[in-house]
Amino acid sequence: MADATYDSNNIFAKILRGEIPSHRVYEDDAVLAFMDVMPQGPGHTLVVPKAPSRNLLDADPTTLGPLFAIVQKVARAVKKTFGADGVTVMQFNEPASGQTVYHLHVHIIPRFEGVPLKPHSGQMEKPEILAENAGKIRAALSN
Ligand code: 5GP
Repeated sequence: MADATYDSNNIFAKILRGEIPSHRVYEDDAVLAFMDVMPQGPGHTLVVPKAPSRNLLDADPTTLGPLFAIVQKVARAVKKTFGADGVTVMQFNEPASGQTVYHLHVHIIPRFEGVPLKPHSGQMEKPEILAENAGKIRAALSN
């Protein structure tokens, strides 16, 4: 089977173009970070490069440095914001791995001792909670 290609109508491409709303926490020329609508824990944030790629496997290597610099920045901010004990950073490639949205993205999830992750793509969070959490993370990022 031929390798799957990038589809510019995926949901994160629409978020990047501003065609559908998101709770944004960080943006620069190369990267956008926003809240996951079905968080696996409070403060679950997604970081995406603006350059199109389906996942890590087809990404231009030059997008990865700027992307992971912001992953680190956001991971530090969410750990501080939520008083977390640790941070899980996850990234999936192709359906067999659990990928469901086909624009490269990295999950950042604050973790607490003894508290398991909620299911992947589980329950939608209330918009007001996402907005509140996004505001707290933005504040931590600006300090
Ligand atoms: P994947 O399995 O592709 O790594 O994860 C995709 C993630 O995107 C899931 O955690 C899911 O909750 C999240 N997600 C799916 N649709 C939307 C959406 O419309 N907006 C936002 N902010 N997150 C989404």
